[in-house]
Amino acid sequence: MKITFDLDDVIFNMKPLFHEAFNKAGIPYKKNTNWNIAEIYDENVCQNLIDLWSSDALYRMPVLDPGIPYILNSLMKRSDMEILFVTERRLKQPEKTFMQLRNAGINCSYNQVYDQEGLKSDILRDIRPDVHFDDSPLVIQGCLLKDVPVIMISNNSTLYNHYLRGQLKHYTNLRTALFKEGIYSPNSIKR
Ligand SMILES: [Mg+2]
Repeated sequence: MKITFDLDDVIFNMKPLFHEAFNKAGIPYKKNTNWNIAEIYDENVCQNLIDLWSSDALYRMPVLDPGIPYILNSLMKRSDMEILFVTERRLKQPEKTFMQLRNAGINCSYNQVYDQEGLKSDILRDIRPDVHFDDSPLVIQGCLLKDVPVIMISNNSTLYNHYLRGQLKHYTNLRTALFKEGIYSPNSIKR
């Protein structure tokens, strides 16, 4: 089974970075309700976000769930699983993304990390995963159009994707999604 994972707001918690961007701009934090942050946020906040993104702040982004590195490592040890991380960050920096994953305790290799030019749904169509997990409305809509099996992570921090809930399967977090989809159970690592 080949499974691909988005990183931001699926594995990593973006909120501290957003808080920092607002703090630096001297503006009270506001939830991200629209996928296009340039439409809803002050330009200083957007610039701060880009600056933080390109800095080592990336390495300070916590995982959303402290159990996720263990679960992903367990899946990666299985011979019947191929695990890939596919992100579409504005600044293409696969080495940093790889280091971020390793720093978070996710024992992937560099060739499991995709952060490259091009539409993520096109990249996913070429990878042909059995399932992809994502929160981005643009990526999800692209996957639906291109027949890439996709499951949405949708919760109170991802207000920007709630309008898609009627169109595909969704779970509030990755751990629940992996359990409910039968991809991971604590017993599966004993095989
Ligand atoms: Mg994301």
